[in-house]
Amino acid sequence: MKVLFAEDDSTSRAILTAMLRKWQLDPIVAEDGMAALELMQQEDAPLLAILDWGLPGLSGVEICRRIRRQKNYNPPYIILLTVKNDKNHVVAGLDAGADDYISKPYDQAELYARIQVGLRQVGQQSKLLATQRALSYDAMHDALTGALNRRAILDALEKELIRSGRRASAVSIAMIDIDHFKRINDNYGHQTGDDILQKLVETVQSGLRGYDLIGRYGGEEFLIIAPESSGTGKEGLYDRLRRRIAATNFVSRCGKKITLSVSIGVTGVTREATVDDMLSNADKALYQAKRSGRDCVVYATP
Ligand code: GH3
Ligand code: MG
Ligand code: MG
Ligand code: MG
Repeated sequence: MKVLFAEDDSTSRAILTAMLRKWQLDPIVAEDGMAALELMQQEDAPLLAILDWGLPGLSGVEICRRIRRQKNYNPPYIILLTVKNDKNHVVAGLDAGADDYISKPYDQAELYARIQVGLRQVGQQSKLLATQRALSYDAMHDALTGALNRRAILDALEKELIRSGRRASAVSIAMIDIDHFKRINDNYGHQTGDDILQKLVETVQSGLRGYDLIGRYGGEEFLIIAPESSGTGKEGLYDRLRRRIAATNFVSRCGKKITLSVSIGVTGVTREATVDDMLSNADKALYQAKRSGRDCVVYATP
């Protein structure tokens, strides 16, 4: 575990650095305040910092103040190291954002114990963040396929329309519906149907660019958002996706090869288009694709 240790006195620095190593920690050492602040602002910065109060350039207490002013979703635990142990200094240090302080000369066992408190706190904070991340991932993704869920893809479309309006760039969306999917469920069972939905999303994702999005709009209907792309034409994004899906071998739970096709309705962004307009246009185009025999892409006429 990395620990930032800022100390200007070389003897104290050598002693505590050796101690931190003995305690199985990985000290990242700074000799002045600016260097310490820089290390604390790096990506992947140590989550525990031991800062001497009196540092050249920037004092430990000033570093606390600056770090706490920044919006950091995973802020470090800071222990101030100080010879100034009168009440006023302690209050000033904690007020500036230090989590704890220890006065020099310190007792090794006490410092060790206080570092352990800090590490526990850091561990709990990291766990909490991981849980938050998992929850927000779950809130945005469809549990079966891993695609964005309906709310998330519609939010993304709303944002994309605002963004593209500002930059006058192209955006297209496509509604994809699996052809005769009921038959798959009827012939091979619902679980095979589920497997196919998963594999279909994987197949589509591998054919998209990094900034294209796919969301599960409803049962076996998916919505794609392709910024900067009209997607039209025989060699366009959507026809490539259609062909990619038609060429994929899906497998049933009892090991039978299954092929399937999709129908796709596409619409581009028009001036002042709302999310509703675009969905309605894509839906009409999809309906048209179904009516003209399925396994095809239909572009909405503006
Ligand atoms: P069409 O070509 O006209 O689209 O025919 P279709 O059979 O695909 O018709 P429709 O789109 O109306 O049917 C959708 C079917 O998808 C019905 C429903 O049982 C199935 N389905 C929806 N969600 C799921 C799911 O999560 N798992 C499985 N296995 N099936 C699903
Ligand atoms: Mg000092
Ligand atoms: Mg459908
Ligand atoms: Mg269908």
